[in-house]
Amino acid sequence: FLHPFTFMNNPLQATAEEVRQTYPCLTKGEGAWVYDDAGNRYLYLSTAVPTVGLGNRRVIQAMTEQYETLSFASTCAQGHPFANQLSERLTRIAHHEHAMVFFSNDGSGAVETAMKLVRQYYRSKGEPQRTRFLSFEGSYHGTTFGSGSVTHMGIKESFGPGLEGCFSIPAPHLYRPPVAGDEAAFEQYCLEQLEKTILTLGADTIAAILIEPIQGVNGVVLFPQDFWQKVQCIARRYDLLLIADEVGTGLGRTGHWLASHHYGIKPDLVALSKGLTGGYFPMGATIISEEIIAELYKEGGIFLHGSTLCGHPVACVAALTILEMIEQDGLLEQARQRGEWILNRLKQSLLDHPQVGDIRGMGMMLAIELVSNRETKTSVSFAWSRAFTATLRQAGILANFFNGVLSMYPPLTLSDDEADYLVTRLIDVLAKMPK
Ligand code: PMP
Repeated sequence: FLHPFTFMNNPLQATAEEVRQTYPCLTKGEGAWVYDDAGNRYLYLSTAVPTVGLGNRRVIQAMTEQYETLSFASTCAQGHPFANQLSERLTRIAHHEHAMVFFSNDGSGAVETAMKLVRQYYRSKGEPQRTRFLSFEGSYHGTTFGSGSVTHMGIKESFGPGLEGCFSIPAPHLYRPPVAGDEAAFEQYCLEQLEKTILTLGADTIAAILIEPIQGVNGVVLFPQDFWQKVQCIARRYDLLLIADEVGTGLGRTGHWLASHHYGIKPDLVALSKGLTGGYFPMGATIISEEIIAELYKEGGIFLHGSTLCGHPVACVAALTILEMIEQDGLLEQARQRGEWILNRLKQSLLDHPQVGDIRGMGMMLAIELVSNRETKTSVSFAWSRAFTATLRQAGILANFFNGVLSMYPPLTLSDDEADYLVTRLIDVLAKMPK
């Protein structure tokens, strides 16, 4: 078994055994913890999926009851109350009271749905030439042909030319800015590039701008607080739709229902997945504004897209239970506060460490960027990275280490003791690493 990302980025030609050591074989999960086939226990931080932890009894019980009453129905062909309830809940969360929700099977499917929808929207409006998409450098949007084509991070080269008409705009990465100068200067540069691209291509050839409010796969990359509002302004000025890919950031991960809320924007479409069902069942969802729906369904129009398993009743019940828990147990507030506590403690203890370039995050989406030289910001070597990942694992932490960035996604339910464990172990591991 070779992990796909390791397989693609395998400069040392790691053997299957070495890959196994980096990607342990998990046999059990409980709350914030997982266990491997050798009985080792790890704090599980690898993906933004588990919001309420693993093996949660309340979610399992609701799902079990659902299996017993209606174990399958396809929303392509029939309705069921749980899909309706979940749609209502999601549209309220997105502050789009009259929007609609389209269910799919994963995050890529949710982005792909959004891309196809906006194209059909413009065709319906008599503007079929609006087919292009703009997205940002460093973004990750998925693996399907469309979502892969708007993904910027190097991955698309592996399948040759992507979908025609997808363009990447520089993004004002706060630690690795695209141009020299202060924050305002590189933010301005990116906005100018966006506007220039729109004018060069012609606004009436563009379908939508896709954003990932905080770039997850790229290493929890945050942008200046008002950047997305300015992007939204440009989208409105040129009459372009705005798609927010909140597959990673959505549904509590950042301590807000949506990261878009934190940044004060209201996208026309929102793609969700990971935290939606917290890993209990695969599911994606796309929230679509009323205006788009009204256009698409005028005169009996239909959106010819969908897959057999979408809107699965067990997935809907898992999602409804998780959303209820987030609300009833105050998990947004908890994620905000505990995330801030972790960030502060890491900064207090590690900002002077010679290999720590940056410590950043929001809510339960955290990262440490490791460099071999703090002046030049040169990334750590592959050998160092491998040793680091192995030491982390020995210390009982399973997190993502990609391109020199350690990304960490604790569940929103992380306890004080678990947060303390995370910080203490990380400080300890970094103290052990060769300088
Ligand atoms: N968008 C974002 C922002 C993601 O982080 C991911 C998954 N890493 C996707 C889309 C694709 O989701 P999936 O892997 O479920 O297809």
